[in-house]
Amino acid sequence: ATMPPLLSAIANSGRHGVLVKSAVVMERLGQVDAVALDKTGTLTEGTPRVTVLRPLPDSGLTEGQLLRLAAAAEHPSEHPLARAVVAAARARGLALPDAEDFTSTPGVGVTATVDGRKIAVGSPARLLSGSEGAHGSEGAHTAVAAELEDGGHTAVLVVADGTPAGVMGIADRLRPDATATVASLTALTGTAPTLVTGDNPRAAARLAAEAGITDVRAGLLPQDKVAAVRELEQAGRKVLVVGDGVNDAPALAAAHTGIAMGRAGSDLALETADAVIVRDELAPVPAVVALSRRARRLVV
Ligand code: ADP
Ligand code: MG
Repeated sequence: ATMPPLLSAIANSGRHGVLVKSAVVMERLGQVDAVALDKTGTLTEGTPRVTVLRPLPDSGLTEGQLLRLAAAAEHPSEHPLARAVVAAARARGLALPDAEDFTSTPGVGVTATVDGRKIAVGSPARLLSGSEGAHGSEGAHTAVAAELEDGGHTAVLVVADGTPAGVMGIADRLRPDATATVASLTALTGTAPTLVTGDNPRAAARLAAEAGITDVRAGLLPQDKVAAVRELEQAGRKVLVVGDGVNDAPALAAAHTGIAMGRAGSDLALETADAVIVRDELAPVPAVVALSRRARRLVV
């Protein structure tokens, strides 16, 4: 028998490195007319590197001590920034103590007890805005973080026992196929994709411009990414979300169609998404949209 068009489109998607989970998904992919892309691990390679270590003067920590505490706390996390911190510690030959009471908050950061000290590592804007209050947006760490972000870094704050101890500058690169993929998606949908990211506006805008994206929504928590999708829907669009993180899962679920970056994506993103890119590439996204449109023309 000849294979039905949507099934052969699924087979073809497989050749492009995309696991499409059902014929319904294969069909929906061709209906999308707006795309929301996550930044870290999706538009970027997701292998960011720690390039700056700035212990704050009052912390009494050396660069190595700051990195050791941060890496120990980040060790259980699967976040790309956490991996960067752990990799930097390994590269310096630092032995990492065990972390206890590890917690992770998507879009914010992690906390853990290391050497009896309560360590928090994460977004300078969010880490101190909650229960750890007191230090808020003041203090030396704010100026250091702003300086690093202006330079295109993601600034990651390290807090020890409730007091800012240092800031790390982490830099990530666009995927080699990011710019071409953004151009293809723009041609396919008639609008440039929207960048939805939990990272800071400065670093996000800089990277987006490089890729040909002007609509940048930064500083978003997972539910804010959902709100961005809803906003596009209210404008009558059918939204394709592409993401890799735990923080992308709600938006992947809320979208008309969700695609997860599978190579280094979180389990939750892979389970929630309608399709998974099993290669470490972004280019398969427009490819499967085009395959779906072709199949749909054959079906109807
Ligand atoms: P994106 O949406 O670009 O993938 P995330 O929402 O995963 O980014 O993260 C947003 C911000 O939250 C990061 O830029 C960082 O400041 C902070 N963050 C989240 N998880 C971690 C972590 N494990 N370590 C350090 N910072 C983190
Ligand atoms: Mg991400």
